[in-house]
Amino acid sequence: MKLTGMRNQCQGCKQYFNSNHAFDKHRVGKHGSDRRCRTTEEMLELGMSLNSANFWITEKRDAKHFMDLREAEQPDDDEG
Ligand SMILES: [Zn+2]
Repeated sequence: MKLTGMRNQCQGCKQYFNSNHAFDKHRVGKHGSDRRCRTTEEMLELGMSLNSANFWITEKRDAKHFMDLREAEQPDDDEG
């Protein structure tokens, strides 16, 4: 699968995410100690869902809306 723009694949669980925001939301715990991926069940409980392309999204809304809400969290990129 070709990944473009903000989309990325988790190296831990191999799931695809539509944005860094969605990716970050599925990671839980502290760096270097108990950092892990949330399960599918946990992601669904958070209101996340898969879009039509099988990418995880934070909510069933236009992603552009949520890009504006992204906070100062640093993206994770080299763990797993
Ligand atoms: Zn993961």
